[in-house]
Amino acid sequence: MDGLRNTRIEKVEVIPIRAPRKEVVRSGLNPGDPVSASEFGVIRIETAAGVEGVGEISITFPRIGHPLCQAASTRIVPELPGEDALAGGRVLARADALLEGVEGACYLRAAIAMALLDVAGKCYSIPAWQLLGGRVRERIPLAWGIYQKAPEEMAEDAAWAVREGFSAIKLKVGRRLEDDLDAVRAVAQAAGDLPLRLDANGAWQSAEEALEAIHAFAKVARIAWVEQPVPRNLDLLRRVREGSPVPVMADESCRSLRDAFDLAAAHAADVFNIYVAEAGGPREAAAIFSFAGSLGIPCILGSQAEMGIGTAACAHLGVALPHLPHAFETFGPLRYVKDIVAEPLRIEGGYLYAPDGPGLGVHLNWDVIREYRV
Ligand SMILES: [Mg+2]
Repeated sequence: MDGLRNTRIEKVEVIPIRAPRKEVVRSGLNPGDPVSASEFGVIRIETAAGVEGVGEISITFPRIGHPLCQAASTRIVPELPGEDALAGGRVLARADALLEGVEGACYLRAAIAMALLDVAGKCYSIPAWQLLGGRVRERIPLAWGIYQKAPEEMAEDAAWAVREGFSAIKLKVGRRLEDDLDAVRAVAQAAGDLPLRLDANGAWQSAEEALEAIHAFAKVARIAWVEQPVPRNLDLLRRVREGSPVPVMADESCRSLRDAFDLAAAHAADVFNIYVAEAGGPREAAAIFSFAGSLGIPCILGSQAEMGIGTAACAHLGVALPHLPHAFETFGPLRYVKDIVAEPLRIEGGYLYAPDGPGLGVHLNWDVIREYRV
């Protein structure tokens, strides 16, 4: 426990990266603006005793990963040294004050929270899951996600996911209804018994338009739920839920504990998609799970296509959550040509495992970070 000798933050570093994806991202969020690489960032916190903690700024839409790195450089890097790295709550409160008014500050806050969790685990020589309440499961079942492309390509992806052992299949909808229906039919046929999750990313502009599509999908496939059918608007979402033959999931509408409260009060969704990155850290994401769980609303952890650091944080949280009713979508590392961590996260047979070792249990791959640094 040498790390406990001096837990003062000595240095904070932020590294903007651009990580090529294996395939281009096309969804209801970015028609006509496909994304081929993730513009993310890595945060490093180092203590006076030389303990290092790492966090990941992961945000695909809007494309604000690099502006957030800039905000980290000017507002966080000069201010956190001197703080006690083990006083996580205090450091995060300070970060919240420093980031007041910054667009998408939650993603940067989440990276700082991950790095502090990593430092704490290393100082006490325990894995992060221990600090998140203790492990209740060995591994986390995953769904696989399929972007918008030709129906036969989407079906091939679905067949691969079945062979790999994934528990569910999510596909991006929100194109012309005929195109969506072709995709849903093709994927359903390839998916066998696996339930389909349909994610529109808010593409339908009215409840009527959404309901027309959802009713059509429900006739051709077994649908687990439809995710964010309409843009972030409580009344619209509630109206879709009232008329929908399948459950409705809130994603873009559910970023924070406050959002979860508003959704629950409005009876606007059946299930929530929660992100460590949007909640502002693993503990904050856990709080939304607890709140929603107390009302009988199931949640999953979703993916910003986090790389190894962000996914490790999700994995540590996932093995520690008391209730995990549905497969997570934290398969981010599989999206990349190369990862920024030295040992790839273990994703096997459709399950995600939390890395062994203290803290988040990951080590940076500096060759890759130097290559991807911008
Ligand atoms: Mg979504």
